[in-house]
Amino acid sequence: MAWDANFEFRDCPWCGLTNTRLDVKTINQKITRRDGVDRYWATVGCPSCGSAVLIEHGDPNSRYRSPITVVPAGREVEASVRHLPEDVERYYLGAMRVLRVGVPDAAAVQLRRTLEAAAAHFGIRERVLMKSIEKLIEDGHVTQSFAPVLHHIRAVGNVGAHASDENVDQATAEGALRFTTQLLRNLFEVPGELNDLTKGPAQTALPPAPGGGPAVGGTPAGSSS
Ligand SMILES: [Zn+2]
Repeated sequence: MAWDANFEFRDCPWCGLTNTRLDVKTINQKITRRDGVDRYWATVGCPSCGSAVLIEHGDPNSRYRSPITVVPAGREVEASVRHLPEDVERYYLGAMRVLRVGVPDAAAVQLRRTLEAAAAHFGIRERVLMKSIEKLIEDGHVTQSFAPVLHHIRAVGNVGAHASDENVDQATAEGALRFTTQLLRNLFEVPGELNDLTKGPAQTALPPAPGGGPAVGGTPAGSSS
């Protein structure tokens, strides 16, 4: 899974154009690092302002379905999470995609599925989403610091359950997305990164590029976020 067409659906980080699909110019451009690690890059372009965006994606056998690096970084990169199980990642990326094109109700449903799938990976399958998240906290899978902001997912847990449900607005869905992002980092990214660390440098994926080039945005992996 090297390049995923879903990577094209992103806001232009240069001019801010939203609800757009960037034009793919090149994919799978392999650049070999001095220690022999191959890195793969795509170039996409904004149809409005003509700016280029570089996207680092996984090698053809990679299981990662999120961009590794995007330069310049857009908002969705802030929301990228590594080490997600496949089902969780699928719902999570779906939520971001529909939120980006302005369908917060659909995003809410995807976020609920994301959180339910995440909880299920820890053996938690409460009927009410809030209960599942509370249980994740109780059981120590996520820190207590999530408790005060649990209300950000209440609307997400209810939407779509009944035809009469109130709609979720964009701000509510974005709040729920940010909550979800942090929760997923706590549940999957931090343990996954620590696990990589124990394997030693030869197997960790992609530290910052060698050569000490200028710091660029969008290095979600490996940083202390
Ligand atoms: Zn643009």
